[in-house]
Amino acid sequence: MCLVCDRLSLGTATKTRSHSSSRRALLGAFGALPLVGAVSLSTAAHASAPPQPENVLNPDQALERLMAGNARYVAGKTAPINFATTRQALAGGQNPYACLLSCADSRIGPEFCFDEGRGDLFVTRVAGNFVNTDILASLEYGTAVLGAPLIMVLGHTKCGAIGAAVQAYTENASFPGHIQALTTALAPAVRQAAKSAKGDALVAAATKDNVRLNVKMLTESNPIISDRVAKGKLKIVGGIYDLVTGQVDLVS
Ligand SMILES: [Zn+2]
Repeated sequence: MCLVCDRLSLGTATKTRSHSSSRRALLGAFGALPLVGAVSLSTAAHASAPPQPENVLNPDQALERLMAGNARYVAGKTAPINFATTRQALAGGQNPYACLLSCADSRIGPEFCFDEGRGDLFVTRVAGNFVNTDILASLEYGTAVLGAPLIMVLGHTKCGAIGAAVQAYTENASFPGHIQALTTALAPAVRQAAKSAKGDALVAAATKDNVRLNVKMLTESNPIISDRVAKGKLKIVGGIYDLVTGQVDLVS
């Protein structure tokens, strides 16, 4: 059983505190990280200590760190990763500072495009990057149990799932197996975008609207996520990854 699954079996509030305690113990075992500035600290990809504890970064600092990592990625200035030096530290715990809801597209690697390593990002993925019950439950876990202060819904240019949903809408196209279920899930975004966009522009517009709709859906999701947003413990943003440049632009 993986670490996440193991913790999922533990329960809620009491176990959350227990988890935090174990995290502090873990950090203690490895020594305190130098607090030179939360967003400028080494990432798990490049340090031998585990990532920072959940209460170090607030939502705005988490977003700043995420976008700074993308800037390094775009500029080709990512630090080399030595997986061997972090493996043992991460075996004892995880402290992701951001959750991602990304498309499953193989050309996008969230840890790569934000210049982060294992333990930094709690990543959920599904073609078309939309919220369903399992995704929502995973994001609730990432924020409420692991304490991540940020969720980013990450769409991307030239998304095949969005393209299929547009085809389903404009040409009444159908797709084999369960692929049709993806186009059904993405239909609200396509309908929204179709009010003002046509032709080739419709895919791009639907990609943005899909991100925005899912940010809104998460923000209003009861009881866990909406409560954390209301209390200022969690921020939810939307971004679009450009396949050509690697740049993530915020769209909500
Ligand atoms: Zn995609």
